[in-house]
Amino acid sequence: MIFKEIIGYTYLHKPLVIVHFYHEKYKKLNCNLRLKVFIMAGQHGDEKYGQFAINRLMQLLTDNCNLQMESFFEIAFLKNANPDGSIQNQRTNAIGLDLNRDHLRLESNETKAIHSFVRDWNPHIIIDIHNYPPRRKHLIAKNLIYYHDIFIDVPTNPASITSTTIDHLPNYNTIINDFFDFVKLHLKNQDILCERYTIVKPSGIVRHSTIDIVDARNSLSTRYGNLTILLEGKNPAKRDGQKGKEHIINAQFQALSIILKWLSISVNRNYFLTNLNDKRTSSIGDKVAIRSKYNKNKSNFTMTFKDSITKLPIEIDLNDYSSYLEVTKYIKLPNAYAVPLHNSQIIEILKRHGFVENKLPDNQDINIEYYYYTSSVGNDNPTISSRKFLNDDNSIIKELKKKSFVKIKKKIKTLNNYIIYYISQPGGHFLAVLLEPRSKYGLYRYKDLGISYSTTSNDFYYPILRIV
Ligand SMILES: [Zn+2]
Repeated sequence: MIFKEIIGYTYLHKPLVIVHFYHEKYKKLNCNLRLKVFIMAGQHGDEKYGQFAINRLMQLLTDNCNLQMESFFEIAFLKNANPDGSIQNQRTNAIGLDLNRDHLRLESNETKAIHSFVRDWNPHIIIDIHNYPPRRKHLIAKNLIYYHDIFIDVPTNPASITSTTIDHLPNYNTIINDFFDFVKLHLKNQDILCERYTIVKPSGIVRHSTIDIVDARNSLSTRYGNLTILLEGKNPAKRDGQKGKEHIINAQFQALSIILKWLSISVNRNYFLTNLNDKRTSSIGDKVAIRSKYNKNKSNFTMTFKDSITKLPIEIDLNDYSSYLEVTKYIKLPNAYAVPLHNSQIIEILKRHGFVENKLPDNQDINIEYYYYTSSVGNDNPTISSRKFLNDDNSIIKELKKKSFVKIKKKIKTLNNYIIYYISQPGGHFLAVLLEPRSKYGLYRYKDLGISYSTTSNDFYYPILRIV
């Protein structure tokens, strides 16, 4: 069975249309023992092949819905996430925003609609489809071209569900490795070459997808706890003509089918149902990763490229392989974050992410922590680089040795003109990723939002408070 839903409109008033497929039987039973999968394409309006692949899958489901949907509760498609961009054959939307870099601030109509749909419909799995250009200047200089028909990846932000340090999802890494192996092997059997998404940077560093949370893959999975899979098909070369296009459309269609097959295998299905069905909830004191760095792996990464001269595949040993992510800073979750009313842009972004706003109960002591930053460390005596922070009774809170944030505790009676966000709400850990001033992935780094350190003053009180 099929039904359509409009989840929003673009700047040029084009509808964002979701097509739902479901099995009659399960819908009647309102059965929640099967997976919900959300598949989207076209965030980048100039990437068309993924949309053609989705057409094929939707045709298959239309022709034989009940059989195809045996393993799933529902599959929803957003075939064209950027209708304005696709009309112009451009990467961005009508107002020039790259939608797959807008999943943190959610400034575009399109990303707002996608997030609000994911929040309401709550899919277990999301597949985000793209196309990638195989030719990169610095690789061409070495006579190398990316060779794989398909690149796939999973969330990589350390605060997302993939984090090896989060033990509430046991066996996650085993399951993800099984996912990569399964998809690669089954595609290989059809002469389609697939690898985990891999970037060789001009510096020579080799890593997988970015850890930032501005894209759909990391943002949706970190905020909502779904497994978000990236599926990239290689752009065909012009000289390969229709045959080259057909090869990539088929490769993306097959990759989609194989991912669905992997999801329908009972062990994984049950895993995602039991683990991802419960919204990830947070408690005071939980550790959330807010900074990390890439470390060099012990072993090399061997990857196939195309030799641009011989046009033949060539295996390259990449020795600066840095996929191993080390968390360099955890933050312990407070009870809540308090955002001043005048920081309206921050409040607006939190609203777009679906966070619930609260007030504090009256007539109770409030324990707050606030951050203080100084760039004038050691001003009194430039040779001694330290600065002491004192409590009201002159006891030392912290001695600052270098330019940095210090956290100061205080008990207060009232806290007016603030909006309170409790971390106990679904996805509360994401508040720390967004709001902590030392979060490498957060809002602090956007100067225009008015919460970052200003170079015109020596001292800076970070406006967002922690309520502990
Ligand atoms: Zn793209």
